[in-house]
Amino acid sequence: MKQKVKLLCTISKHLALALIVLGFMAQVAQAQKKITSPQEFFGFGLGSDRKIARWDKIVDYYKLLGTESDKLKVIDMGPSTMGNPFLLVIISSPENLTNLDRLREVNAKISDPRGISEAEIKKLVSEGKAVICQSMSLHATEIGGTQMAPELTYDLVTRDDEETQRILNNVLFFLIPSFNPDGQIMVTDWYRKTVSTEYEGAGLPWLYHKYVGHDNNRDGDFLNMIESVYAAKIMYRDWPPQAYIDHHQMGSYGARFYVPPYCDPIRPYADPLIWREISWYGAHIAYKLEEAGKAGILNDAQYPGWGHFGWHWITPFHNIAGMLTESASARLATPLYIHPEQLRGGSRQFPAYEAQTSFPNPWPGGWWRLRDIVEQKKISAWALLDLAARNKETVLWNAYLKAKRQTERGAKGKPAAYVIPAAQHDPLTAVRMVNTLLLSGIEIKKARNDFIVDGVIYPEGSFLISLAQPKMGLIRNLLGQTHYADNEWTRGKDGSPLRPYDLATHTMNEFMGVRVDPINGAVNGDFQILTSQVPVSGKVETGGSGYVLDGRLNNSFKAVNLLIDKGISVWRVDKASSGIRPGDFIVPSGPEAVLREVAEQTGVDFKALKSELKEGTHKIKRMRVGMYQRYWGGNMDEGWTRFLLEQFSFPYTSLMDAEIKKGDLIKKYDVIILPQDSTGMITGEIGPRFRRRISSYPPEYRSGIGKVGVEALKAFVENGGTLVTLGGASSFAIEELGLNVSNAVANTSSQEFFCPGSTLNVTFENTHALAYGMPSEGLVLFWSSPVFEITPGEHNEDYETVVRYIERDILRSGWLIGEEHLSNKAAMVSAKYGKGQVILIGFRTQHRCQTHGTFKLLFNVWMR
Ligand SMILES: [Zn+2]
Repeated sequence: MKQKVKLLCTISKHLALALIVLGFMAQVAQAQKKITSPQEFFGFGLGSDRKIARWDKIVDYYKLLGTESDKLKVIDMGPSTMGNPFLLVIISSPENLTNLDRLREVNAKISDPRGISEAEIKKLVSEGKAVICQSMSLHATEIGGTQMAPELTYDLVTRDDEETQRILNNVLFFLIPSFNPDGQIMVTDWYRKTVSTEYEGAGLPWLYHKYVGHDNNRDGDFLNMIESVYAAKIMYRDWPPQAYIDHHQMGSYGARFYVPPYCDPIRPYADPLIWREISWYGAHIAYKLEEAGKAGILNDAQYPGWGHFGWHWITPFHNIAGMLTESASARLATPLYIHPEQLRGGSRQFPAYEAQTSFPNPWPGGWWRLRDIVEQKKISAWALLDLAARNKETVLWNAYLKAKRQTERGAKGKPAAYVIPAAQHDPLTAVRMVNTLLLSGIEIKKARNDFIVDGVIYPEGSFLISLAQPKMGLIRNLLGQTHYADNEWTRGKDGSPLRPYDLATHTMNEFMGVRVDPINGAVNGDFQILTSQVPVSGKVETGGSGYVLDGRLNNSFKAVNLLIDKGISVWRVDKASSGIRPGDFIVPSGPEAVLREVAEQTGVDFKALKSELKEGTHKIKRMRVGMYQRYWGGNMDEGWTRFLLEQFSFPYTSLMDAEIKKGDLIKKYDVIILPQDSTGMITGEIGPRFRRRISSYPPEYRSGIGKVGVEALKAFVENGGTLVTLGGASSFAIEELGLNVSNAVANTSSQEFFCPGSTLNVTFENTHALAYGMPSEGLVLFWSSPVFEITPGEHNEDYETVVRYIERDILRSGWLIGEEHLSNKAAMVSAKYGKGQVILIGFRTQHRCQTHGTFKLLFNVWMR
């Protein structure tokens, strides 16, 4: 009996327990049921063959998840370049998400611990959460990252295992599901248009961003694009993460997946811990991929630690362990079959497709699909979160150490600081540079009074940037003279130089033509720390006979464009007179309200003209300009130039092949610009390297002006038009128009002459109308540029050198081998041709909208 009762009791206990468990399970089921899976939402598994989820749907999915789960916060940072939402998704535990303000404060203090005691930091490290940022598909044809993101998010907010809970509790995950929403939409639409046709899987015929295409990964320093401005707000200022991954894809025929560490050389001035952290995270990610049975994983090769200043390569100088992953690509969402013998190495520290310590498990070949990419990406993204969650305190403590040590190095090092003097050739461009540096979270002070340092008096309004701050390494790279490494890591076995991944220098002030003085002495003065962007606002002086605008200011060109747009006539000074230089602009009259509005908008002062200028000026006839635009994936230099022209309000028309081939161009245009390009890309007679591309594009997207176009351009110039060729496009003009100009470095070997993306000293002929407003000497950016020699002919007088390399000590920053090949040679030439003119600008005058110091050489083409 007793036993029976006990048994009954036990049964009822079990029943009760079972009911509780059932109830709990039902609750869990209900809680989980509320969260829609990607499969349910999109109607297919992400990464399926021939399927791409489009950005608008992905945005909808995130918005839905935001209502279904309390483990994520979806933030619309604002519109992309073309007006699509740029999303930031913060994923963490509900407790952390309700405590974001405090956690942000903790993170900020750890990232910049100046004035905080170590005891206090220890408390903050224990209270804080690891901040990890990952961004997807910056390069829009590299679709895997964005396709993976919803699945990763779903797993994080629905899985309730220990590993997931640890991540949610210890990590604030900042996910940027698409760094390039516009490109994502373009590529998806293009793919859907071509799927099931013979062009399925072909690349996009134009840039996958309105302006910059692939170069959106070269904008982490200048922040020209709005998407970059959002990323800078997140990572450089509001929430400096401890680690960051930018997820990319690479070519199809090498390793399946690359993850850091980077190989050599590494760029100087980062805290050494950065490189150790990157190795540590990278090793864990590679390890987790091997553990999951993924083959073909490569690290410590291919991608050097000295790259461009896109996101994963600039963040280490913000003390962020900045990494990238690279998955081998399929053909967008179309699978690609790869034969074993098609697989190859041949990149830095990955000489052959064979097992090595950094590549122990070669992939054997076979089918390669989008789903493979999605899985690799997901494992790698998760592995980073997992490692940070397991080591939260180490990660935060190291963030403190990096910031502290960089500040100490800056305090002890030489130079100790940089001064940006108020007196500049173009002070408005200097302010623009200061404002860009502020967006990067650099601390800048402005002098309230004059101050003396190293025996130089700097006027009130000058800016001071101390290196005793956490972003010392960034400041040093952006503002200090830099020499690219020339050693075993940067030379091949035969001694020939290896091309750097990008430019050999990214010195901002040198590109912008802004004077920056390195200083060592003690600074005594009254300074104010800048807490917001420095405003500019020009003034209109009245009481004269019209107004004069300083032709040395880039913004004066914008002001003139705005005035002409409003029907106000502007004149240009050709001869110096009291206080007025060749190239200055004269505005005889105009409604004061309009002038004031333009002055305020551009920052340009309208100074009163003492007496009316009768001689030595000419009325500006703004040129009608066409700029060549082609397919073959688009031309980034063309896109950047469009962006630049729009920034400064220059009118232009994009000119495609069909219009050029039709001829009679002189009727519609005064000037035609050929952006940086190879002759083959312009004519369409492209070499074998691009043959494969030819067949992959539908015929209507195979561009090239052909022989007919060449003749049309010739006729245009002969009839009085001006042809402007930028960078390598100068070779097109030299070859096709038969100019008496040769390229002095066309036939040199790389051991004789090599200059990859460096700043070089030149003289500007600033009394020549094409160099109005320029200083007499300065820097230009040289990158695979032609160097001009005027060859002897009957009419040498028809050729003029506007910009010339100096005789010796030509290099400022970067890398230059064989300077004798440049010595005294022409960098920019103007040639008469028939009734018209050809202007050859060999160097990168408007490169990535960064080389503000030489913009005017292009702007002057309009203002004649
Ligand atoms: Zn990429």
